[in-house]
Amino acid sequence: MSISASAVAAFTSAYGEEPAGLWAAPGRVNLIGEHTDYNDGFVLPFALPQRTVAAVGPSPDGTFAVCSTLAPEPVTFGITEPGEVTGWGAYVAGVVWALREAGFEPPAVRIAIDSEVPLGSGLSSSAALESSVLTALIDLGGLDVPLERRPAIAQRAENLYVGAPTGILDQSASIRCEAGKALFLDCRSYEIEQIPFDLAAAGLAILVINSNAPHQHVDGEYGARRKSCEESAAILGVTALRDVGVDDLPGALDRLGDEVLRKRTRHIVTENQRVLDTVALLRAGQVREIGPLLTASHASMRDDFEITVDQVDVAVSTALAAGAYGARMTGGGFGGCVLALIDAARADETAAAVAAAYAERGFTAPTSWVAVAGPGATKL
Ligand code: ADP
Ligand code: MG
Repeated sequence: MSISASAVAAFTSAYGEEPAGLWAAPGRVNLIGEHTDYNDGFVLPFALPQRTVAAVGPSPDGTFAVCSTLAPEPVTFGITEPGEVTGWGAYVAGVVWALREAGFEPPAVRIAIDSEVPLGSGLSSSAALESSVLTALIDLGGLDVPLERRPAIAQRAENLYVGAPTGILDQSASIRCEAGKALFLDCRSYEIEQIPFDLAAAGLAILVINSNAPHQHVDGEYGARRKSCEESAAILGVTALRDVGVDDLPGALDRLGDEVLRKRTRHIVTENQRVLDTVALLRAGQVREIGPLLTASHASMRDDFEITVDQVDVAVSTALAAGAYGARMTGGGFGGCVLALIDAARADETAAAVAAAYAERGFTAPTSWVAVAGPGATKL
């Protein structure tokens, strides 16, 4: 059964009628630009073919109801403030709250969710959930919310209602990505540019390898990285590390006495430049040539930002040994996924090599698939 069909089935079984419509929003991978979003920097995500589907219909009694094939309990709520709905339902109640906060009146609805986006693997199932619900509420309510305002509304739901301090990357990707394109996003101005990303035409593919490594200490480590970046920016007298260019880096590093701050700063500054370089190459149609930038990004995350774990390092080195043009961890770190730029014909071979390397080390088996850049949130 497709996820659309199972979302409809979940809706009819929960609420005893057909939904008014279906809305879908994708998970994402970030091609390059990690932890740069909250430094006012650059990111370059593309939308995954895996999506979250929301089957939605009007509520008969003015309350909201939501159930998910991936959650044991349905959730109901009315007009709420942050803290009143907790757990997975907070992502949905948060979107309703954030829309109202932004001055819009979403209609009361009943929702059934199904998803192909793995939860908690760094592929942004949370933004896919928020974006599918947000798009449904906007369409069903006939709300005049311009596309460019939508990511920030979904982000406020996650930051202020759920309480997860994420940047604007995930929601922008899930809402604004286009098929066959990577989304070049300036996280300071929120300006976007759709960058051609047609791998098949170049005989290439991106293999996504989910390390399936258990996430550990993610929240604490994420908070610590943000704090280091803010501290460094304060010492350097800039608004954000985005304001330090690669040419200024040696001088900036001299002024940061602390070795940890130096490493964190070096990652952010060089990573922003790698995003710009990647965009320039893609604009010029030089897709294969981005490989070394991906690999350099991984080394920077491993050695300077210190957010990788053995499983992702092994996936990267194994993919490279199997002939990948470049490979890197994608997502916030401490587990999650790796992406490898490969010849399209070598996908199975590369996936098998990584699986064998994991088996040899006794790691939980990885899950791999070829990801083609898909569309952003939409009514189906
Ligand atoms: P990621 O966004 O990387 O997948 P997060 O921790 O940010 O990881 O978000 C995962 C959380 O989002 C889940 O624990 C759950 O609360 C919620 N979530 C996402 N998708 C769904 C879904 N389809 N059904 C229920 N809850 C979901
Ligand atoms: Mg998330």
